[in-house]
This record gives sequence, structure tokens and C-alpha cells, in this order.
Amino acid sequence: MRPALNRRHFLGTTAAASLSSLALGAAEPKPTGPKRPVVIASGNLRTVEIAMEMVQKGADPLDAAIAGVAIVEADPNDHTVGLGGTPNEDGVVELDAAVMHGPTHGGGAVAALRNIMHPAAVARVVMKKTRHVLLVGDNALKFAREQGFPETDLTTEVTRKAWLAWKEAHLRDNRFAVPLAQLDPTVRDLAAKPVHGTIHCSALDTHGDLGCVTTTSGLGYKVPGRVGDSPILGAGLYLDNTVGSCGSVGLGEVNLLNCASYLAVENLRRGMKPKDALVATCKRVVETTTRDPRFRDDRGRPNFNVVFYCLTKDGRYAAAHIHGPASLAVHDGETARMVDSASLLD
Ligand code: ASP
Repeated sequence: MRPALNRRHFLGTTAAASLSSLALGAAEPKPTGPKRPVVIASGNLRTVEIAMEMVQKGADPLDAAIAGVAIVEADPNDHTVGLGGTPNEDGVVELDAAVMHGPTHGGGAVAALRNIMHPAAVARVVMKKTRHVLLVGDNALKFAREQGFPETDLTTEVTRKAWLAWKEAHLRDNRFAVPLAQLDPTVRDLAAKPVHGTIHCSALDTHGDLGCVTTTSGLGYKVPGRVGDSPILGAGLYLDNTVGSCGSVGLGEVNLLNCASYLAVENLRRGMKPKDALVATCKRVVETTTRDPRFRDDRGRPNFNVVFYCLTKDGRYAAAHIHGPASLAVHDGETARMVDSASLLD
């Protein structure tokens, strides 16, 4: 019994330390202004509720967005970000995250970061305490440790078992794979169809200033060291405080190939309505990437999906994606609700 107690104590202590590390790099709240605040996120009401509560208390919009996504980063049952994120081929969770701050046009990011539950908060410290924008791998971890972020094992029993089942199935000649039917359904689903996903959150405060964040564990069972779009400014997120912000979820490679979030913000700058700006971005991504057979099916249609979320300087918002259903979480200062995303192909 003793080791179990120790482990519980250890996990509790680590969770508390991770929680307090969230304050690293956050600004002091300031008096609120006269403008209507709005927060959007990729499909998570809790995220927009937390971020809105902070914005209404005068928090910086980026700090509010980071606090909003932190709840998902700390959730072991969400397999797309932070603790419990789906690991890479080697069974190791590698996280990508980036932030942008409207008033200063600042940005910070970390990629392939291991063992840190809140990579978005580390990205903010990269932005605030260095002259750089992006730190990667072991040196990103070293930086995070130096700055006071505690290390945590980000794998859980569910993700470890699912990864093992995935690996055994892919090394069939050398291993005796556990029949999938014998696995717990959660583990089976995660092994058979690795999830990928991301949390993006953009916040507009009562002064009309924007902040945004994108955080992810990336593609499930990816090649170790693979970096997606999420920590690349212009790809997985972008913001211009005079125009608006955009973030994305889905196959990162296609956003990297198109600087897609930057393109969406530029579409807004040219006067397009939020939904049109995002649908046009989806269209561009499809047009360019389906030139490559790896990104199209037999009928020439895209064999991948991406979703874009945007929030304008004056508080308008939209989401758009390539196919299938998708939605956007919105808080307008009064209520939080889910809003349908516009689909390019369906
Ligand atoms: N965009 C993320 C990546 O490519 C994954 C996702 O959103 O599903 O790493």
C-alpha cells in the first residue's frame, strides 16, 4: 500500500506545482475598459468560461486564454493535449504550443517539449523572458525547468496501454499482440484510431485587445521530433491586434504548407467577413495541398481535415472546416454556447 500512497501524494504535489506554474509570466490584472469582451475556443465551453471570467476581472487577454486551455492541458482524460496526450511512436508525449499577444505583437512557442503539463504557459515565458520566439526539444525542457515549471510524467495508464497495443499491432512479426477485442474500449479506440486534436483559444478583452494560444500533443504516434503547425506562428495561430486572430486544429502539415492562420488574418484585413475569410482559407489549403497525391483520395478530394477559428478586433467570430461537423465555443460576456462551423465540402 505504501508505494501507492506515495504515488498519490507525489501526483497531488505535482498537480499543485503545475497549477502554480501557470502564473509564471502572467501580468497583473488592470482596470476593465468599456468594450464588450468575447472569447472563442475550439469546442470546449469550460475553456471559454474560465477565460471570460478572467477577462471580466481585468486579466490580460493572453493570460485569460492560457488559463482557459490549462484546464484541458491538465485533464488526463483528454488525449489531445498536455497530461494524457497521445504519445509519439516511442510512447513519449511531445507537446507543441504557441501564444501571441495583441498589444505588443509578441509571440512565443515551444515544440517537442516533454514532461511539462502546461506548454502554453512556457511559451508565454519564452515570449516574455527571451529575445526569441521558439524553443525546441531538450533545450525547451531545460528552459522550462530553469524557469520553475515542474516535470510530470504525461503518460497515463490508458495512453500507455493504447500505445503498447498500437505498437504490438505494428510489430506483428515480432510480438504477440493482445487482440483488440480484449482491451478496455477506451484503450482499444485510442490504439486502433489514434486521436489527434488541439485546443485553440482567442480572447478579446474590454479594451479591445487580443491574445491567443494553441496547444497540442500533435498527431498520435507521430515520428519522434515531428513538429506540427500549433507552435508555428502563422500556421497554427496568428494575430494582428488591429485586425483579429485565427487558430487551427487538424492536420498540421497542410497549415504549415500554406501559412494558413496568417492567410486567414490577411483575408480579414482585406475586409472579408469572418466566415468568408475562413472558408477562403480552407479553399486555398485544399487547392494547393491536393496537388500532392498523399493529401487526396481516389476522387481527388482532400483526405484530411482542418478547422479554423477566428475572432475579429470588433468581436465578430466564425469557424470553418473542410468536411464533417465541427463547432466553435463562444462566450460573449453573457453566455457560453456552441456555434456550428461552416463546412467547405459538405
Ligand atoms: N494540428 C495538430 C498538429 O498537426 C493536431 C490536431 O489539431 O489534430 O499537430
